[in-house]
Amino acid sequence: MVRGARPANPPDRAFRPVRTCVGCRKRASTSELLRVVATESEDGVFVLEPDPARVRPGRGAHLHPEPTCLALAERRRAFGRALRVTGVTDAGALWKLLGTSEGGAPPRPTSKVGRPT
Ligand SMILES: [Zn+2]
Repeated sequence: MVRGARPANPPDRAFRPVRTCVGCRKRASTSELLRVVATESEDGVFVLEPDPARVRPGRGAHLHPEPTCLALAERRRAFGRALRVTGVTDAGALWKLLGTSEGGAPPRPTSKVGRPT
């Protein structure tokens, strides 16, 4: 008697959601990308907030957690398009998370080397 003639498990790649990075436009699995949601503040600015757990309601944009992709996304206004928001988007929280300051320059490490005590 042969049991299990039907494929019980889907192929490996079936359960691997893929999204496009709003910065570099490359496709990657959701585990590699940071989900970003927009929250409208009182003054009409859409504050972009990271949603690493992917639990926030509403539309989400996906981004590689890298300053280069964030810079690209901002330059292209990709967040507004991906999140269907019009107006100003504030990516300050994302820049903070990715450990760099707006403008592209990497933060200078505070060095204590060579300082006499
Ligand atoms: Zn990217």
